[in-house]
Amino acid sequence: MKNVKIYLSEIKKQIEFFNGFVLMLDFDGTISPICSTPDEAYLPERNKFNLEIISRLFPVAIISGRTIKDLKQKIGINDFVYSGSHGLEWNIATLKKRKHVPRRILKTFKEIKIKIKKLLPRYPGMIIEDKPFTLPFHYRLIEPGQVPIFKRDVSKILKSVYNDKTIRVIDNKKTIELVPKLNWDKGDIVKLIYKYLQDKNKKRSVPIYIGDSLTDEDAFRVLKNGITIRVRPKKGSSAKYYFKSRAEVDRFLVWLASYCEGLEASSTKRHK
Ligand SMILES: [Mg+2]
Repeated sequence: MKNVKIYLSEIKKQIEFFNGFVLMLDFDGTISPICSTPDEAYLPERNKFNLEIISRLFPVAIISGRTIKDLKQKIGINDFVYSGSHGLEWNIATLKKRKHVPRRILKTFKEIKIKIKKLLPRYPGMIIEDKPFTLPFHYRLIEPGQVPIFKRDVSKILKSVYNDKTIRVIDNKKTIELVPKLNWDKGDIVKLIYKYLQDKNKKRSVPIYIGDSLTDEDAFRVLKNGITIRVRPKKGSSAKYYFKSRAEVDRFLVWLASYCEGLEASSTKRHK
């Protein structure tokens, strides 16, 4: 993996070679700081400002485990491309689609949720989120010393799920989440969004994808010819580049926005 700070000119060359890019971003831990509870996460004003500048010239897509409704509320910009619920739903311009999730899976989630809820008195820091297609519960606020027993209790409940080939259990960033396994992940949705935008704009452009965690690896793999950046380096990651910290994402957006403003300025000069 290469440090973006050192290889910024290499990245710039790729953007210039393609004459543009499609910017695809994860939300939590990427453009938003990780907060104690999922509700507290927010898009810093400066990032919103820079993303608006960038989106005047190039498409911006947000891809997250959150629902689209939640993402739009947090971001407050309607005309980005959105994919939520780990790629299970997506909005591109007027196109609004979602994957069919078999009722059997949703029923299993409901049953598991009831059992997980019973752990609440023992682990009051746990947060169980209400989401339509997935079942996330967060343990960031559970006392660290209690986490191993908490996990043991959870795995007793999830025993049946571990053998279920239609459900994926993601344990990442102090969150355990049950997600329908439909042969469809962040990699598939990223491919779909990228292809759609290429066809629509009738020109080739380089994909830039930034993410910070396990599910983003699916996107990094699919976009191996693009500019893939992981927040914080990790051994075995499929991303080509890395940021040392999340704050470097903010600085990269400043750089990208000023690159876009430069393009805008030179094109108005040409038209004068
Ligand atoms: Mg993330």
